[in-house]
Amino acid sequence: MTTETDAHWMALALAEARLAAEAGEVPVGAVLVKDGQVIATGRNTPVAQHDPSAHAEINALRTGAAALGNYRLDGCELFVTLEPCAMCAGAMLHSRLARVVFGTIDAKTGAAGSVLDLFAEPRLNHRTQVQGGVLAEECGAVLQAFFQQRRSVAREQAEPLRDDALRTPSERFAALGDYAFAPHYVQDLPSLNGWRLHFVDEEGAPGEDGQLASCLCLHGPGEWGYFFRRLTGAQGLRTLVPDLIGFGKSDKPKREAAHRLEWHRDVLLEWLDRVQPQPVVLVHSAAAADLASLLQAAAADRFVDVIAAPDGGERIKDAWRAPYPDRGYEAALRALGPLASSSGPTAVQAGALARLVRNAMGYSTS
Ligand SMILES: [Zn+2]
Repeated sequence: MTTETDAHWMALALAEARLAAEAGEVPVGAVLVKDGQVIATGRNTPVAQHDPSAHAEINALRTGAAALGNYRLDGCELFVTLEPCAMCAGAMLHSRLARVVFGTIDAKTGAAGSVLDLFAEPRLNHRTQVQGGVLAEECGAVLQAFFQQRRSVAREQAEPLRDDALRTPSERFAALGDYAFAPHYVQDLPSLNGWRLHFVDEEGAPGEDGQLASCLCLHGPGEWGYFFRRLTGAQGLRTLVPDLIGFGKSDKPKREAAHRLEWHRDVLLEWLDRVQPQPVVLVHSAAAADLASLLQAAAADRFVDVIAAPDGGERIKDAWRAPYPDRGYEAALRALGPLASSSGPTAVQAGALARLVRNAMGYSTS
């Protein structure tokens, strides 16, 4: 049973895990508690310390034992965000902890029931209680986010940039906290010629009827997917938001001649065939009207309906400037159109737009 107190200590361990992530370590955190007081905290530091044993639990046990002046931690409880490994479980048994509470399970190396269960081994002389599942979801999410980020960095390095193109550094977008959706990339479509296309693919919570209506959100020249930030992930929708090559987070060919609407149309249709072969609703900004017409003319059966998105008319120049550190990146702007003066739908407009999309698909709207 999870008590409020257990959750409280686990939240402290989670804060340690987040600090580990910031330091580039696998995010696991621990706190050692005795008589309702924190004796020690610990987080993963193997990378920083060149020490394979520097797990969060070991660090917390070491600090705690030093603070108490005793290698035995009688009456202490250890809270850790991840199921302990065999090394840590062994150290916990040696320290005579009264109780171990962990967050999420570790299916690969967990030694408290997942791979083996040292705490339940009758041949070991121990008296440590163990309990898992406290704030399991939060503890797991921190790890997942960390590994997802690491994979995307690895992919970044694995996806080479063509000599005739530029790739906007991701720091340029860091301030746009309202567009922090997981990045997706595609580079191997024939029409892409090796340039890398970025897109967002977010599923909102299902609608009341359990359905998700898929929509392709199309920005125009001078804009990027940011235009649809308030529609992205809306309830009842799967929002597919590509950045056209030359814009947003996609690669930026340096030659103006590369940027033709017909080519963007071909790329989009190939990409759509891969990510969503069933018909979608096409939602476009005013600036994307020409491209939307080209798409519809070329593949009418791919689109259930075409809807022009309203514009809230705010001033958001920084977001439109973000993709372009200097003029070298701006070939698409020179070829197809200037920096946007739009801002995308307001929250209220996005809500109405989501209902229009669901209506177009024949799904219920409340
Ligand atoms: Zn460990």
